Amino acid sequence: MERTLSIIKPDGVKRALIGEVIKRFDSNDIKIVAMKMIHMTRTQAQGFYAVHKERPFFDSLTDFMSSGPAVVMVLEGENVIARYRELMGATNYKEAAPGTIRADFATDIEKNVVHGSDAPETAAFEIGYFFNNFEIVG
Ligand code: ATP
Ligand code: MG
Repeated sequence: MERTLSIIKPDGVKRALIGEVIKRFDSNDIKIVAMKMIHMTRTQAQGFYAVHKERPFFDSLTDFMSSGPAVVMVLEGENVIARYRELMGATNYKEAAPGTIRADFATDIEKNVVHGSDAPETAAFEIGYFFNNFEIVG
């Protein structure tokens, strides 16, 4: 059993896509074991995406991530890190496979609706960034 961090980014919340995203977890045997709505400060977004701090898109990305409410979730399931990445689709929605969340809903390489951890180590860091053990069920 594996865990991963999911974020419905501010564009997804603003465009009323929370239900659409959660529906896909339910129909793909992915269990939500923690969930809350947050509005990140710029500093929190910078800490979360610290791995990208040298990238040209870092300022814009962290502005965007702190621009409005987001939904953060811990997902649990077999091989869930890779399976959720598959459901999300490629970073650039134009390259995302048909039927993925980003292919269906993203409007921009930055405003791509969802985030998902990319490896067990990043999942552990990212889950701990937003949740303590008492907030995760099961
Ligand atoms: P995420 O980490 O959000 O799940 P990802 O792992 O598919 O997405 P990363 O390379 O980690 O992609 O980039 C993090 C986020 O930075 C992307 O989801 C996107 O919002 C933004 N981003 C990535 N590349 C670009 C780019 N070339 N221009 C603008 N924004 C970008
Ligand atoms: Mg990433």
